[in-house]
Amino acid sequence: MDTYSDIKYVKGVGPKMAESLNKCGIFNVLDLLLYFPRDYENVPVRKSILDCEKTEKVIIECTVLNILKDIRLKNNKTLSTIIFCQGDNKFKGKWFNQTYAKNSFKTSNKYLITGKVDKFKEEITIMNPKIVKNTSMDENEIIATYPLKNNITNNFFNKIISDVLCNIIIKENLPSGIIEKYCFCSLNDTIRNIHSPKSLDLLNEAKRRLKFQELFTYSLKILMLKEFIKSHNNGIQFKMTKELTTLKEKLPYNLTKAQSKVVREILIDQKKNIGMNRLLQGDVGSGKTVVAIITMFNVVKNGYQTAMMAPTEILAKQHYEEIKNILNDFSLNIQILSGSTTAKNKQLIKQDLKSGIIDIIIGTHALIEDNVEFENLGMIVTDEQHRFGVSQRNRFSNKGKNIDILVMTATPIPRTLSLYLYGDLDVSIIDELPPGRQKIDTSYESMDNSDKVYEFALDEINKGRQVYIVCPLVEENEEMKLSSVEMLYEKLKREQFKSIEVGMVYGKMPSKLKNEIMDKFKAGEIKALVSTTVIEVGVNVPNATVMIVENAERFGLAQLHQLRGRVGRGKYKSYCILLANITNNIVRRRLGILIKSNDGFFIAEEDLKTRGAGELFGIRQHGESGLILSDVIEDIGILKLANSEAKRLIQSDNACDTKVKNEILQKIEQTSSYICFN
Ligand code: ADP
Ligand code: MG
Repeated sequence: MDTYSDIKYVKGVGPKMAESLNKCGIFNVLDLLLYFPRDYENVPVRKSILDCEKTEKVIIECTVLNILKDIRLKNNKTLSTIIFCQGDNKFKGKWFNQTYAKNSFKTSNKYLITGKVDKFKEEITIMNPKIVKNTSMDENEIIATYPLKNNITNNFFNKIISDVLCNIIIKENLPSGIIEKYCFCSLNDTIRNIHSPKSLDLLNEAKRRLKFQELFTYSLKILMLKEFIKSHNNGIQFKMTKELTTLKEKLPYNLTKAQSKVVREILIDQKKNIGMNRLLQGDVGSGKTVVAIITMFNVVKNGYQTAMMAPTEILAKQHYEEIKNILNDFSLNIQILSGSTTAKNKQLIKQDLKSGIIDIIIGTHALIEDNVEFENLGMIVTDEQHRFGVSQRNRFSNKGKNIDILVMTATPIPRTLSLYLYGDLDVSIIDELPPGRQKIDTSYESMDNSDKVYEFALDEINKGRQVYIVCPLVEENEEMKLSSVEMLYEKLKREQFKSIEVGMVYGKMPSKLKNEIMDKFKAGEIKALVSTTVIEVGVNVPNATVMIVENAERFGLAQLHQLRGRVGRGKYKSYCILLANITNNIVRRRLGILIKSNDGFFIAEEDLKTRGAGELFGIRQHGESGLILSDVIEDIGILKLANSEAKRLIQSDNACDTKVKNEILQKIEQTSSYICFN
């Protein structure tokens, strides 16, 4: 057996189990060994059964006194029992419907067993006891718990991985200089210790090395990818067209300094013979869309097609309208493709994309369907990039050859971090809002005061304004101390808002209905809109002045900041009221940050401190970034080291380093895109 042996040939894995493992992304032995535990259970070794607490899981030494006959119970279950002893103390081991379990035990033999303790009056029982191997009597046993899917049990993972580890030696793959410098364990020991650690210290050592390894590989890939892209001078060279000046004159406003700077950065990228791969960050409402429009326009005027993908239909429609509006005088063919496009229109649009008649297409995920083809795609834009999975973004960029890629996000990545994550080269930032924006009056209130808050909203509505009320997504099985959209909608319609038009939108609603309601809200017919976070990104209704967020404690700060950005878009004073279950000071402090600051970057940085990076960037999903154990915030120290080692390796020309580099470069050529900003 070696690391690349197919998983189905591993002892104990049949064809059926192999299929289930495949679904977990495990195809060969290496995949299995890299399927890291999600957590660990530290099971204490108890000297005496009398020290055991009820319901705790323990390891204990005992002797088999008597194996009883199985009993058939009234509920049709079969009970197997063994009487164990420890000196004079007796206790039972019990199993239900596992008649084979007792066969591993022999009368008078001594065993180390583990199981959950149950106490009833004077009688002590260990439920489902199992024999523990390899634990010396004074050490706790640390048991790995794996992410479980497809009916594979934790026991199965533990068993098969420990079997495999008995039969394999894992080759080292970090340069020896690095191992010595940071006193890392060998890879062989590390993999053993991550799966079945003998002690917490050894586990931590294993984690330290694996985190370094992930972040080192990540850094190398980023750095080499940049070199790779630069050395492949096959990007399309777009000219700066004269019409840009005309467009600039026709814009309904002057660009901010920051917008102009970013437009320039993108146009410079477009001129190069290197494919553009640029991340555009800008706070909510900073005007990213128009930057995209201007630069897409330039590509179109060079004779190419462009496409922009947005995460929701609402947003796609809004972009479509804005683009039509701004490019009105240029007689371009601009279309929208989304879930609610009729079959007939879809057909037409696809034809026209393929034949090159359409200049600009705006759309949702519908754009990445297989049969959407372009004649000569030159540039793609992904709006709210964090809302898309990596594979979706890849499929989008595969729609063209050597195209320029712009991705936009309002979830800012703090500079310190982006330097390490992206090498900081191709990131543009709009750090200024268009003039005349008012500060949004932000406050938080206890959920108990919600009536007062709705009353305030009603006052605003009576003045002619409109209101958003946003609820968190509630899973069906959750305790209902939360407002679900539907419940709140019904309640408001019946009570506080009975005299006005109320609407409701949520993600799973048929898109036609969703559009209708959004249109009515935009037109001012619906005064109060109850929704989930489908309106979080991008929606622009200048007459809306109040944003009420229910159960605000359930949202991330960056997300609340996004939601707040839905108001304050017109000339009226606007309010954001966060209704929260204020159960502790952490909630109070977190919400306080929003009240204090209007700066998305600052807020993101604070959010990171309390929530961790994975959640914010979505880069932790298994298999996507290769970062499984590391959290780029928590482990920023390791990230810095890994980054500097990666840089050193790249510059080094000694044979050993070159070998490592080449191996990684090969992998990059196969899988390069997953780390690009597309
Ligand atoms: P975001 O960066 O959040 O995507 P948008 O692109 O939706 O922001 O822009 C928000 C609003 O600001 C839009 O109504 C847009 O028309 C307006 N806007 C953009 N740039 C400017 C500007 N330079 N001056 C005035 N208004 C602007
Ligand atoms: Mg936007």
